[in-house]
Amino acid sequence: MELLDGKALSVQLIDSVKDEAEKLKPTLAVILVGENPASLTYVKNKKKACEHAGIEYKEINLPDTISQEDLLKEVNNLNEDSDVNGFIIQMPLPDQISVPEIIRAIDPKKDVDGFHAYNLGKMFLSPDFEDLPPATPSGIVKLLDYYNIPIRGQEVVVVGHSNHVGKPIGTMMLNRNATVTTCHIYTKDLASHTKQADILIVAVGKINLITEDMVKDGVVIVDVGINRTDEGKLCGDVDFENVSKKASFITPVPGGVGPMTIAALILNTISAAKRQASN
Ligand code: NAP
Repeated sequence: MELLDGKALSVQLIDSVKDEAEKLKPTLAVILVGENPASLTYVKNKKKACEHAGIEYKEINLPDTISQEDLLKEVNNLNEDSDVNGFIIQMPLPDQISVPEIIRAIDPKKDVDGFHAYNLGKMFLSPDFEDLPPATPSGIVKLLDYYNIPIRGQEVVVVGHSNHVGKPIGTMMLNRNATVTTCHIYTKDLASHTKQADILIVAVGKINLITEDMVKDGVVIVDVGINRTDEGKLCGDVDFENVSKKASFITPVPGGVGPMTIAALILNTISAAKRQASN
């Protein structure tokens, strides 16, 4: 079994764009609503990655009582701010906020999380149109490519069908000619599907959802889930200790998909800045 070391690859990818960042001098802005502890950690890591890459980082902190209207105003301010090349709104957002409406308001050219329907829609066409792909799926593809893991013709099973992870990673795998199965909460017999997987991508948020008896020998495991045990330890959705004995490759949690998501965000910020400079 070999670990898919997202931490090491993310450092390499961020290093690789430093020269471009120096020329373009891009700015990434992050809207942070409230003080959710997980969001604070994610945002801190994104700031660190920007500093490493040489990207200007701007954080807009807003109270969790903010109204839809005021949040939309902040989004519009960033759309119109010519000093900002890309921005994200850290999820989750409080209940009074309509997430689809907020995402719809983002200028697609600055949508470096790749959540806007315009960027998602383009991604459906082919890999050539994945200009600002959603960050987590994009990071997963880069990780598989780096380790020379074949995708074409492989049975890829995705567990979870969220708009920003499960659905787009399934599409990106299909774009690369894998045979894709997507499972979710209503899937009748999850194990009957996961057992077929050459590559199993799990994005649910449930500790030990995938156990050793649910995978075949030699499977490649990509564990997107981020959970905390009762003892406060970070873990994914896969029973790492036992499943790793059968896997050929597996991502650790932490240190797998998480850092790759951040690297993909940095690469998207550089792409957005490059396109804006050339227009
Ligand atoms: P989400 O929007 O809550 O989606 C979870 C998906 O799992 C849904 O499609 C849900 O189906 C499905 N599901 C729930 N219980 C299931 C079960 N028992 N069997 C099969 N499918 C089930 O979550 P998300 O935002 O995609 O995130 C998933 C996990 O990845 C979370 O732990 C999150 O923290 C983590 N994450 C990590 C990164 C990273 O960079 N590493 C990035 C994003 C997310 P229904 O919708 O039908 O309920």
